[in-house]
Amino acid sequence: MAHALHQILDIQELDMQMIQLMRLKKERQNELANINAIKADLHRKASVKEGEIIELKKAIRLSEGEVAQIQEKIKKFETQQHAIKKVEEFNALSHEISQAEREKQAKELRLSDFYDKLTAEEEVMKSLNESLASTDENSKLLEAEIREGLERINAEGRELKAERDRLVTKADPEIFGIYERLLRNKRDRVVVAIENRCCSGCHIMLTAQDENLVRKGERIVFCEHCSRIHYWPESQALEGTAAAPKPRRRRSTKV
Ligand SMILES: [Zn+2]
Repeated sequence: MAHALHQILDIQELDMQMIQLMRLKKERQNELANINAIKADLHRKASVKEGEIIELKKAIRLSEGEVAQIQEKIKKFETQQHAIKKVEEFNALSHEISQAEREKQAKELRLSDFYDKLTAEEEVMKSLNESLASTDENSKLLEAEIREGLERINAEGRELKAERDRLVTKADPEIFGIYERLLRNKRDRVVVAIENRCCSGCHIMLTAQDENLVRKGERIVFCEHCSRIHYWPESQALEGTAAAPKPRRRRSTKV
């Protein structure tokens, strides 16, 4: 039993490294996703702004056309006025002209607002494009670093997996099956030493009887509290293995 557990402990060490590695990979992927989200947001804002500017320019062209039309109208009235002899008709046209002038002024005022708005929007567009360019530039290096890191992680993961596959072929299939089920559940060390009559997985005190069972090593002994498999750390079979010297090396975050 001690030998069988020893093999599982070696596999477990690789699995702990793999879990840590996958966590790191997830972090790197999140960083990459964040960079892309920031860029996508800037692109989206720039394209919205671009659409607004196009609409504004359309409104300006329309407004300019209207002002020109009124101007034409005023000119026509003035020409008519020159040919007119009757005072009443002359006055009536004067009235029309001043009305058209007022209309033109109002349109010009609106047009002037449009011009101001266009200037402001184009400023915003310019600064959006600038920050887009600098974000693209700055993130290039960072993205390359992250991608390089991901490649290293993948390579390390492949090595770990190859080594694990090799160890699994030598492991007792029954114990290995139990180990894998427990590992899937806990994502943490599931074959743990007894230390000072405590389970080093859940740190709950065990009975002397439990301890004796583990010490004898005749069969698999599960922790009554956390279901982890116990091993006796002083067992000769475990000395000098990955498991013996570091039963305390537990990950700080428990899942
Ligand atoms: Zn326990």
